[in-house]
Amino acid sequence: MFHIADVKKFRFCPRFFWLHNNGQALPRIQFVRMEEKMTELAKEKLKITSFFMGQRNDGNEVFQQGFQKESWGINVRMEAKHLRIKVPLMQKTDDGYDIYFTYLGGKPKGDDVRYYSDQIWVMMELGIMIKDIFVIHLNQEYVREELLDIDQCLSIATHFYTSKGLPSYLITDHILDHVHGLSSSLEEMVRVYQDTIPDPIKLPRCYRRQKCGYYHQCFPDELSDDHNSVWTLVNSSNKPQMVKQGILKLEEIEGDMIEGDRVQYAQIMAARNGGIFFDRLAMTNWLSKVIKPISFLDFEWDLYAIPPYPGMRPMEVLPFQYSLHMLTEEGLKHEQFLGVGDCRLDFIESLLKNVPSEGTVFAYNADGAEKLRLLELARQFPQYEEPLTALAARLLDLAQPLFMGLFYDVRLGGAFTLKKVIEIINPEFAYANLMIQHGLDAVELWRKADISDTLSEQLREDLFAYCKRDTEAMVELYQYLEKLVK
Ligand code: SF4
Repeated sequence: MFHIADVKKFRFCPRFFWLHNNGQALPRIQFVRMEEKMTELAKEKLKITSFFMGQRNDGNEVFQQGFQKESWGINVRMEAKHLRIKVPLMQKTDDGYDIYFTYLGGKPKGDDVRYYSDQIWVMMELGIMIKDIFVIHLNQEYVREELLDIDQCLSIATHFYTSKGLPSYLITDHILDHVHGLSSSLEEMVRVYQDTIPDPIKLPRCYRRQKCGYYHQCFPDELSDDHNSVWTLVNSSNKPQMVKQGILKLEEIEGDMIEGDRVQYAQIMAARNGGIFFDRLAMTNWLSKVIKPISFLDFEWDLYAIPPYPGMRPMEVLPFQYSLHMLTEEGLKHEQFLGVGDCRLDFIESLLKNVPSEGTVFAYNADGAEKLRLLELARQFPQYEEPLTALAARLLDLAQPLFMGLFYDVRLGGAFTLKKVIEIINPEFAYANLMIQHGLDAVELWRKADISDTLSEQLREDLFAYCKRDTEAMVELYQYLEKLVK
């Protein structure tokens, strides 16, 4: 018996599907905090009071009997040809069934149409007549007031949306148009599942947005850290082609094979010139933007699907911690903050009290992270809008020299995380000797403490040490770049 998610995994990669189903499933990471179940909230939105609730392992007879008594079913389990699905909400009408899928995100796009249409295929195999299909999603325009208004927080979509947020295909028509038989795919899945593990085949899917969780298991040779491998080339869709042609090292790549990306150029030049590329002139220009006193800032935050506090929107974050290092005439100074619950005001007031009133404030990946957080807080707390917006404008992204191809060290292996950078420029500041070594672990531990409202002294120390390490690493990186220029 397979679940609908297995079909998605199988399409992604048969080996991924095999590993997942043969005792090697990857740990599930809950990026988004969601204490309420989406179907429960959708039930409230649809004002459903009378319904039957499906349960794990229900056979088809359960939903058939359920709809004899009720017009609404929630978490309805069914299966056809050994493929099981769970329909979040469905309503029996005189003209067929209305299906409500749920989506933990903003306006739904058509990318997941196959996932929905596969589920409709199961329903059709069971003779269920489909009337209309809807997707219940988060309304990202909604701003919470004192009390949560679920009716406003969720929206019911009848259309998929374009990346610009404009309505495109009608959901019902688009999904029904994509319903194709799954029988042969299911037979193939059974064959692969029962066979020995499929060979790994390196394709862009293995590393597209982020590396597949099985990447190092599939390609252990890369663990031996061939830093000069063409597989480390960033933003390139030509890598499989190069490998096919026998081009295996960065230094062997010819100019017409790169896509005009400055980082790719930096990578190739570093490989050809003893491991490091450094554009002194451009780097000097970049550093000339820096205004003293220099500060280094890092935030930790949790991401909430449903806004927990006034002023927040769906899928917005709550910053709960910061670390601030300042290079002053008297030497390096440090300030920090850590709170639980709705600590936004304390966070803002502490930060504005401690951050110098002028000078450059470095953050790593500032534009996608710290800057956004400051602007969100400015919107949520209009009384602090001016100083927070001014602080956001002073942020300078310390990752820019890497993302702009001004500097590259082949030992980075195409990875530009602060952790990787510090391992190379000063391993003394590596994260390996900390109790918490990853941001996601920090968030998970903080989340548990926040839910139970008990932040132990030990956890406080560990969280402080982790966030502090980020700003320490930034200080090291800045001083390293300055030395290179000199
Ligand atoms: S790394 Fe590539 S081959 Fe291996 S499981 Fe992931 S997607 Fe499949």
